[in-house]
Amino acid sequence: SERTLVLVKPDGVKRGLVGEVISRIERKGLTLAAMDLRNVERSVAEEHYAEHKEKPFFGELLEFITSGPVVAMAVEGPRAITAFRQLAGGTDPVEKATPGTIRGDFALETQFNLVHGSDSAESAERELKLWFPDL
Ligand code: ATP
Repeated sequence: SERTLVLVKPDGVKRGLVGEVISRIERKGLTLAAMDLRNVERSVAEEHYAEHKEKPFFGELLEFITSGPVVAMAVEGPRAITAFRQLAGGTDPVEKATPGTIRGDFALETQFNLVHGSDSAESAERELKLWFPDL
């Protein structure tokens, strides 16, 4: 069993899709090890998205992720990292995410793609430490 960090980003919270996301996680058989609605400090946002520091959209990304509360979750289960990435669908909600996934069903723009999920065991460990240091 492993753990992954899942975020319902500000667009998902504003659109009332928190329950939908949790429901899909639970129906898959994954479980919640921790969950918290919180505002994101700029320093946490910068750390979380450190790998995108040089990207042209980095500024926008920080603005967006700090624009309202997010729901952060530690999600647990066998192969939880890959399992949630599959539930989420590809980064571009139209070109990459297929219908039946969270992004494929509910999003239109890459910038507003509703959820985040750790993309590897290393990312999950780093991100869970950042978001849930006491877990
Ligand atoms: P996340 O890390 O949020 O799960 P991801 O791993 O699918 O997304 P990344 O390539 O790591 O995708 O990009 C991180 C986030 O940055 C995306 O989820 C999206 O919100 C934003 N992003 C990525 N590419 C662009 C882009 N070209 N323009 C605007 N925002 C982007």
